[in-house]
Amino acid sequence: MKEVHIVGGGLAGSEAAWQIAQSGVPVLLHEMRPARSTDAHRTDGLAELVCSNSFRSDDSTANAVGLLHWEMRQLGSLIMRAADAHQVPAGGALAVDREGFSAAVTQALEKHPLVTISREEIAGLPPPDWDNVIIATGPLTSPGLARAICELTGEDALAFFDAIAPIVHFDSIDMNVCWFQSRYDKPGPGGTGADYINCPLNKGQYDTFVRALIEGEKVDFKDWEKNTPYFDGCLPIEVMAERGPETLRHGPMKPVGLTNPHKPDEKPYAVVQLRQDNALGTLFNMVGFQTKLRHGAQTEIFRMIPGLEQAEFARLGGLHRNTFLDSPRLLDATLRLKAEPRLRFAGQITGCEGYVESASIGLLAGRFAACERLGLPLDAPPPTTAFGALLGHITGGHIGAAGDENTKRSFQPMNVNFGLFPPVEKPKRAPGAARLRGSEKAALKKNAITARAKADLEAWIRGMRAAAELVTT
Ligand SMILES: Cc1cc2nc3c(=O)[nH]c(=O)nc-3n(C[C@H](O)[C@H](O)[C@H](O)COP(=O)(O)OP(=O)(O)OC[C@H]3O[C@@H](n4cnc5c(N)ncnc54)[C@H](O)[C@@H]3O)c2cc1C
Repeated sequence: MKEVHIVGGGLAGSEAAWQIAQSGVPVLLHEMRPARSTDAHRTDGLAELVCSNSFRSDDSTANAVGLLHWEMRQLGSLIMRAADAHQVPAGGALAVDREGFSAAVTQALEKHPLVTISREEIAGLPPPDWDNVIIATGPLTSPGLARAICELTGEDALAFFDAIAPIVHFDSIDMNVCWFQSRYDKPGPGGTGADYINCPLNKGQYDTFVRALIEGEKVDFKDWEKNTPYFDGCLPIEVMAERGPETLRHGPMKPVGLTNPHKPDEKPYAVVQLRQDNALGTLFNMVGFQTKLRHGAQTEIFRMIPGLEQAEFARLGGLHRNTFLDSPRLLDATLRLKAEPRLRFAGQITGCEGYVESASIGLLAGRFAACERLGLPLDAPPPTTAFGALLGHITGGHIGAAGDENTKRSFQPMNVNFGLFPPVEKPKRAPGAARLRGSEKAALKKNAITARAKADLEAWIRGMRAAAELVTT
């Protein structure tokens, strides 16, 4: 049988190779280290963890990444097997001994009879006779390949920096203070005229907020990040604040074209706008609020905004070196490049974020590529599972920015989180029981989402097995 090629032996590429080989399909894995390294990798091991050694929470009942761990284990993940075998104590989190972990992944793949590892850089588009390829070259994809991808997809389809504005769970926004309205009620493409959530600030609140932005603790760029051009109309919010007290009021916080229905006679001095971020309408991003503020400072300062006092953040803002595709536009539902379907993408380059998320998208890409080779149906996981929720974010759930005045492209990498899942029915108290407190409601909601995900994942796996048996008989 002809092999599947994988470019990049990081978290995603290693998991994809394992899944493909375990399905009985040969794999040729191309990894450029040690011949050429990246600015963050230090070793020649596969699945090297470039920074922290944590896979985050392992709680599969109340945490979205814990649920993803559970789902990956159900599908025989090599990354999870190696992580479980090399765990170090970390409370409720799953943390690993990074060297033992990477060595275990490397050895498992080196020993597998269907895996061949070639230590070479693929510095341009894979040759035309590679008919089934997974590109999993990560946030620091080598320049030659990145250039070739740009030529194929168009200049603005591949980003080299993520400029992430914080994303807030809709149900944590106080709509008694905020209101839905687009500036001048303009409907815009695909809109209704009431597409933004607006948070009003008076002069005193605005002045205090701008001061807090300027004084807040920031993160520095790493030396090797400083050379990457990123000023693509997306200055950090605190840099704008430093340019003068009025800059934000004439930029992302301008109050024009908006009337607060809660106080129609009072003109807001400044307004923070949030735009719907996913098709489900569960997440909203703070428009123009990309930032290098430290995470702790962000939570504190952004909760000073009226209406966001209780905000729960699905992700905080950031600005990092990161190569990633405009996936919702470019990839199909099984991660193939629409313009050249022999090429499939996996890992952080698709717009997920984090070790576990990258490995999980590698797992799915590997299974899709193997199914294709074996002539099996390519069924995507249900959107109610963590796999499906993350895949949905990458391939379609995001509300696009076509024609948007604030940003050219707004798709940004994201960790898995409960905001990506279809909503569940609001938890109800049992007859005669005391009223549920907010934290109890939140816990019940998370439990309901994870229980539904587990049942749906098991049904999906049963369906895949039945389909495979049908095809082979
Ligand atoms: C500085 C930094 C710190 C980070 N810290 C964290 C963190 O603490 N926690 C977290 O969860 N995530 C972190 N991330 C994100 C992390 O990189 C990803 O979560 C994860 O490693 C991505 O997995 P991947 O498989 O997509 O890419 P990678 O793991 O980076 O793997 C890509 C592989 O492709 C190889 N490669 C690149 N180009 C080519 C080519 N042309 N030919 C052949 N091989 C190639 C690379 O050598 C590499 O081995 C960090 C990222 C960076 C850049």
